[in-house]
Amino acid sequence: MSIKVSLVTKIYKDQKALNEVSFYAKKGQIIGFLGPNGAGKSTMMKILTGFIKPNFGHVFVDEIDILQNPIEAQKRIGYLPEHNPLYSDMYVREYLQFQAAIFKVAKSQVETCIETVGLAIEAHKKINQLSKGYQQRVGLAAAILHNPKVLILDEPTTGLDPNQLVEIRALIKELGKDKTVLFSTHILQEVEAVCDRVIIINKGEILIDKKLAVLKVSKQQTIEVTFDCKIETQLIDNLPSLVSYQNNENFTWCITFENEEDMRSKVFDFAQENGFKILSLNTQNKNLETLFREVTS
Ligand code: ADP
Ligand code: MG
Repeated sequence: MSIKVSLVTKIYKDQKALNEVSFYAKKGQIIGFLGPNGAGKSTMMKILTGFIKPNFGHVFVDEIDILQNPIEAQKRIGYLPEHNPLYSDMYVREYLQFQAAIFKVAKSQVETCIETVGLAIEAHKKINQLSKGYQQRVGLAAAILHNPKVLILDEPTTGLDPNQLVEIRALIKELGKDKTVLFSTHILQEVEAVCDRVIIINKGEILIDKKLAVLKVSKQQTIEVTFDCKIETQLIDNLPSLVSYQNNENFTWCITFENEEDMRSKVFDFAQENGFKILSLNTQNKNLETLFREVTS
């Protein structure tokens, strides 16, 4: 089950919330939709689920155009909105049965979903008696009642305590085994913990769209080194596996290498062979965090 977003633009009155956003998600991926508050994540998700319309662009879910055929597309989508709208005075099981009736889903599905999200021991309680983590499970159960192949989760872990966080992340991962999941978050570690792929969005534009594995195994490393004297660039040019360098201050260099091996020892050898001393030596790892800061700043 795929998602295809093509050049989607959304303008609220005079504000452009999304600007020509495009991406494609194939079956069975868990995608982290990462961006600061106001980036446009919820807007994109509301458009994907057919709750609001874009001004321009197209969205296809399993090759069904959500604008042309919203009902058919929505049958394939499970949606947990940002502020999980539950009827808090209802009992968990009663609420899910009510949702199942509205969406004409077999009652037996309710029990299956209660099991899937780990709600069995709380299912007899009122929703407002549950912790936030369990309330999110109710929202997730409601989202998967009709067994959708695409799950759209808008900040499903916001407001959870650390234990609940871990549990809900694990649940999302489990659900992602047979569904395409797009979930939004402003927490970087979450993306690293749960996703196969990250889409970074800021000010309504996609800045990065990459498989996480690609980010993690990137062979590039940048080393910041301060020598005790001025060094000619010709000498630096002799370093092995060199990609680029920058001479920031007089004796400090940021040198980028492409090699799996830790290049600090090579820099050390280089200094020794040429008779320089090293005053400091640091690796700057380009993880998701630095990447995020780079692209959103
Ligand atoms: P995110 O979910 O990433 O925090 P949103 O999609 O909610 O971002 O919002 C993107 C931008 O659009 C924000 O600047 C927000 O203020 C604005 N916005 C969102 N919804 C509306 C609306 N209904 N009317 C006007 N502006 C809106
Ligand atoms: Mg939002």
